[in-house]
Amino acid sequence: MEFITENPAQNQAVIRQLFKKRQDKKRSGALILALEGELGSGKTTFTQMLARELGVKEKVLSPTFVIMKKYEIPKNRSGLNAFYHFDCYRLDKAKEILVLGFEEIIKDKKNLVAIEWAEKVKAVLPKDAIWLKFEHLGEDKRKIKIVI
Ligand code: ADP
Ligand code: MG
Repeated sequence: MEFITENPAQNQAVIRQLFKKRQDKKRSGALILALEGELGSGKTTFTQMLARELGVKEKVLSPTFVIMKKYEIPKNRSGLNAFYHFDCYRLDKAKEILVLGFEEIIKDKKNLVAIEWAEKVKAVLPKDAIWLKFEHLGEDKRKIKIVI
């Protein structure tokens, strides 16, 4: 699937499509979104809108310095309990993510895990991760390619 957005708000339509599609797919663990794309391509913006769409009350900030942040998802039809936001920009090796309890987190089917700079930890990501590739096309124009 490929989308062009002309402003940040249009990410919402992309998120809705993504959730529609992923229903068809069987998962053994968490729903993992692997976000790839250069600085400013819209990974954090997408993640913030995703959190809002799921009803997360807290403000989602980029966890660049803390690497990971967990948010509670209120009970709703998504069936998800927790939202984990990772930013791997500062990691050097894929294995570094494991000290944060990553393996436990991705086992739980009720977790949604969004990972920025996912290419850095590709070696430890399960095969069923959904890849989202962000591209900067113009000032407010972005391309999002989703590989499910
Ligand atoms: P990244 O996390 O990939 O570094 P950010 O989401 O932090 O990127 O930054 C994207 C910036 O581009 C934000 O300031 C956002 O407001 C702006 N922007 C403009 N148009 C779009 C769009 N169509 N989609 C996402 N972000 C956009
Ligand atoms: Mg970011």
